[in-house]
Amino acid sequence: MVVSDQVPIGKRSLDLEWFRRELEQERQFRLEQLISLSYQAEAPCSTALGEVRAALTAGARRALAEIDAALFRLSRNTFGVCELCGQAIPSYRLIAIPTIRLCLPCERSQPSHQD
Ligand SMILES: [Zn+2]
Repeated sequence: MVVSDQVPIGKRSLDLEWFRRELEQERQFRLEQLISLSYQAEAPCSTALGEVRAALTAGARRALAEIDAALFRLSRNTFGVCELCGQAIPSYRLIAIPTIRLCLPCERSQPSHQD
């Protein structure tokens, strides 16, 4: 078999099934977190505690949106591709943060990047 240089993204050496499992586990965890937070929100509590819950809920929703976006990229075979420059994101970065969207140079070029 001749190795083409136009290997489809889904056929690269990344173990996409591993990432899918990781993302689905994380998604389940976030859903359970949101459900338990919504139960807690029904109980009366101090304002400070309510603010903590609101922050946790917002964080879990954001994480869930990131996970869904990553699962969508998996389904479209664009997982692991930088959204800005189209370069492959190194696998060590993906393993550390499976929901990551950008390669390191692009992330550093973002105005929101905090270091
Ligand atoms: Zn990039």
